[in-house]
Amino acid sequence: MSSAPAAAPKAARSDLRFAVIGAGMSGILTAIELKKRGLGNFTIYEKADRLGGTWRDNTYPGLSCDVPSHVYAYSFELNPEWSHRFSPGAEIQNYFEGVARKYGVDRDIRFNSEIVRAEYQGGRWQLETRDGHRDTVDFVIAATGVLHKPVHPAIEGLDSFAGPCFHSARWDHSATLDGQRVGIIGTGSTAIQIVPAIADRVAKLSLFQRTAQWVLPLPNPAYSEGEKAMYRDKPELLQQSYVHWTRRFVDTFARAVVGDQDEMAKIEQACRDNLEQNVHDPDLRERLRPNYRAACKRLIMSDTFYPAMQKPNVDLVTESIERIEPAGVRTRDGRLHALDVLVLATGFDGHNFVRPMQVVGEGGRELDQAWAQANEAYRSVAVPGFPNFFMLVGPNSPIGNFSVIMISEIQIAYILQLVDLVRSGKCDAVAPKAAATARFNADLRAAMQGTVWVSGCRSWYLDKNGNPALWPWSFERFRQEMQAPDLSEFELT
Ligand code: NAP
Repeated sequence: MSSAPAAAPKAARSDLRFAVIGAGMSGILTAIELKKRGLGNFTIYEKADRLGGTWRDNTYPGLSCDVPSHVYAYSFELNPEWSHRFSPGAEIQNYFEGVARKYGVDRDIRFNSEIVRAEYQGGRWQLETRDGHRDTVDFVIAATGVLHKPVHPAIEGLDSFAGPCFHSARWDHSATLDGQRVGIIGTGSTAIQIVPAIADRVAKLSLFQRTAQWVLPLPNPAYSEGEKAMYRDKPELLQQSYVHWTRRFVDTFARAVVGDQDEMAKIEQACRDNLEQNVHDPDLRERLRPNYRAACKRLIMSDTFYPAMQKPNVDLVTESIERIEPAGVRTRDGRLHALDVLVLATGFDGHNFVRPMQVVGEGGRELDQAWAQANEAYRSVAVPGFPNFFMLVGPNSPIGNFSVIMISEIQIAYILQLVDLVRSGKCDAVAPKAAATARFNADLRAAMQGTVWVSGCRSWYLDKNGNPALWPWSFERFRQEMQAPDLSEFELT
C-alpha cells in the first residue's frame, strides 16, 4: 500500500500541518506515510508514555496475535524474524518500536499528551491536550484504536475482593500467580490465551464462563533458525508467505462471515470436531458447547485451550456469578469459589471510537451529537460536517478476524488521496456529503442481515442498536471501493 500512487502535487502547499492522534499501529503507519509523501509537518499525540497501542496495553501471560505474523506486519516492512506463526505480544510490541525507530517517526511523538478537544475554527483544527498544550493544524488523523477502553463488569462487590483484582489489559505483574488460586472472568480471545499460559503455574484456576465459545484449533509452530534465515535471505519468500496467508483469510474466513455458507460450514465443522475429539469428559464437553453459530462472536483460535481446561487443577464454572466477596466469587448456587487473584478478561468498549476526545466540527456540532444514534461514518474514515478530519479503523472497518494492519494501509492510502486535493490547491477542505454517508450506512445495515454476526449471540461487535460495527461485504469489495475516493460523494470547499 505504501506505494499507492498519490496525485502529483501541483501548486504544492508545503505548509500543511497534521496532527496524528495515537501512536499505535495506525498512528505509526500514518506518520510513515506522511513522511514518504514529504508531508513532514506533523506531531503524533500519544496519551501514554510509550508507543504500541494495544500491544503496549496488553501484557497478559499468553498474549499473542492469532493473525499469522507474516500478515500481521506492515506490507512494506515484512519481518523474517518472527519466532512463531502466531508470535507473542512482546515481539509485536518490539516490531512496532523498531519500525518507528527505523523510519524516524518515534521522534515525532509527543508522549503523555492526550488530546481532549479538537475544534474546527476558521478552516483549521484547534487542538488541546489534557495538560493545556495547544496546536493548530490543517488535518486531524485520529488513529485512536478500537479495543482500548477496558470494560469492568457490573458485578456486585467487585471492589470488595481482598486480593489483586485487575483487567486483562492492565495486568498487575506484581501479583503472584505461582501456587495461587486464580479466577478469570470471561471466555473471549483474551481469556482463552491466558488459561493455557498460567494453568501449570497456579494451584487452582477457576474460569467463569457466561457463554461458551467455538474454538478453531490452529497450531502455532515456531519458525526454525533455518526458516528465518531463508526469509531473511530471500525476501521474495516472505512476500509469498504474506500473499499466501492473506489469500487464505480472504478466501475462507472473510467470505464465511459475510454469507458464504460453504465456507462457513467448513469452519463450523472444524470447531465441532475440535470439541468432540479434544474434550474427553462428556459433561465438560457439553458445558463447553456453544448454543449459537460459530463466528457469531469473534472466533477463538487455539489448540491449547481445551487441553488446559482438562487439567486437574482447572475448573470451568458455568453457574452464573451472584457477587464478588473479599474471599472470592460467589455463584448463584451459593458456592464460594475461594480465590487469591481475580482477573477480569471482560473485554472492551469497541464503540467508543475517537471519544472521550471532544470533537467539534462545522457550526459547533459535536461528534457526540452527530453519533447520538449510531457511529455513522463515510466508509469508516470520515464524517459529514467534520472537514479534514479522518479516522483509521473507524466504524465498520473490516476488523473481524483479519489483519487490521492491511485495513489501515488501505484506509491511509485513501485518506491521503483526499489530503492531496488540498495539498494540490483544488480545495481548502474536504468532507463527505451527508446524503452519501446516509446512503452508505443504509446499505451497511441492509447487508448486515446476511452476516453471521446477527445470527443470534451477544458480542462486542454489536452496538446499542444491535448493529455490528464491522464490514458486511467481502474483503475484495473493501479493497476495490477504497482504491480511490468517489469525489462526487464529497464536499470540496
Ligand atoms: P470479549 O471477547 O469481549 O470477551 C469478554 C468476556 O467477558 C466474554 O466471555 C463475556 O461473556 C465476559 N463477560 C463480560 N462481562 C461479564 C460479566 N458481567 N459476567 C460474566 N462474564 C462477563 O473480550 P476479549 O477476550 O478481551 O477480546 C476482545 C477482542 O480483542 C477480541 O474479540 C479480539 O477482537 C481482540 N483480541 C484479539 C486477540 C488476537 O490474538 N488477535 C487476542 C485477544 C483479544 P459473554 O460472552 O457472555 O458476553
